[in-house]
Amino acid sequence: EASSPRQRIAVLGATGSIGTNTLDVVARHPDRFEVVALSAERQVEALLALCERFRPRWAVIGAARLDELAAGLRQLGLPTQALGGPAGLTEMAAHPEVDTVMAAIVGAAGLAPCLAAAHAGKRLLLANKEALVVGGEVFLAAVRAGGARLLPIDSEHSAIFQALPEDPETWAQRVEKIVLTASGGPFRQRDPATLATVTPQEACAHPNWVMGRKISVDSATMMNKALEVIEARYLFGFAPEQIDVVIHPQSVVHSMVQYRDRSVVAQLGTPDMRVPIAYGLSWPERIASGAEPLDFVTLGALTFEPPDPRRFPGLFLAWEALRAPVGTTAVLNAANEVAVDAFLAGRLRFDHIHAVNRGTLEAFVPSKPGSLDDLLAIDREARARAGERVRGLARG
Ligand code: NAD
Ligand code: MG
Repeated sequence: EASSPRQRIAVLGATGSIGTNTLDVVARHPDRFEVVALSAERQVEALLALCERFRPRWAVIGAARLDELAAGLRQLGLPTQALGGPAGLTEMAAHPEVDTVMAAIVGAAGLAPCLAAAHAGKRLLLANKEALVVGGEVFLAAVRAGGARLLPIDSEHSAIFQALPEDPETWAQRVEKIVLTASGGPFRQRDPATLATVTPQEACAHPNWVMGRKISVDSATMMNKALEVIEARYLFGFAPEQIDVVIHPQSVVHSMVQYRDRSVVAQLGTPDMRVPIAYGLSWPERIASGAEPLDFVTLGALTFEPPDPRRFPGLFLAWEALRAPVGTTAVLNAANEVAVDAFLAGRLRFDHIHAVNRGTLEAFVPSKPGSLDDLLAIDREARARAGERVRGLARG
């Protein structure tokens, strides 16, 4: 029998934290993987360096930097073809010479390429949780219609996926609930009364993970966990009441499944995103990830505590949004993207992120989305409303 051909991978968001970790794992297995496309929003130099190293057939960059990228590729004498903008991303995500798409763009900007990959039946490695939070049932319908294979990369969802039985048909009958662990971020013990003065630098200093700035702020508010509750609901199909969150500051237990008989199956490991990335890349097989092994003896204690609603009010918006009319999770995500942007730009107080999210959620009830265009319209409207709130609070 001929050896199986290499998996041809497109890494969307290649210059980011997940993109870099993905390429680290891929580079350990040149016999298994071939990088055929790489993308970045603005970082021409970083993308060129990756093109030199991985020699992909295509490189995609934001439209404003396309000429710069093309010139750089020529100068380096690389055969890589430059593509620009959202059209380039969706073209790569659906290209017949791509088997696997790593969706590692941050935010709703990744939705269109994810849907394209789903419709084209790709193996879709989903780090870009916002795409599923916005896309919801429309996203899942695209996966079914295209015959795609959706695999979670978020560490909690990879943990749940690893702790669930192989056959999804058995989940509803066997599983009582799933429990997502959360580190609690940098402000787990901070006095809630002082959250108004938090700086972007403080919010981005995560104790256990080095990540992009948006997800770092989300971890500090625990909106990241709110998005993950919604992500889990869509990925695994459990009711919102069957999804719990517990704070576990060591980030060693990555999440767990509680079965009907009260047996709990958890997945553990050092906090290193290369583990869930390697699992997504190789599933159902296992490959070396480069992560350090877990040393239980030096580890000492694993602790757990409940999330404090005064410190982390945003977390609880997840269940509210899931009980509200379909499309509300897209409203929540859009509001949060606008609020986090404004906070990082110094235009919004840290504790006002929640005020923007809650206010936007309460003021805007979307009609049921049935297509990408519907979703993008909800996203646009929610952004406009959240933007007004940001300006109102800034004047306030
Ligand atoms: P990052 O900011 O480090 O990287 C984002 C990547 O996407 C970059 O390559 C950037 O150029 C590209 N990008 C950003 N905006 C874009 C746009 N509008 N159009 C096209 N490309 C764009 O982010 P990250 O930490 O790697 O996170 C990526 C995704 O993975 C997020 O959805 C995040 O929630 C999720 N995630 C990250 C981690 C982590 O450890 N970093 C863990 C779990 C899930
Ligand atoms: Mg996570």
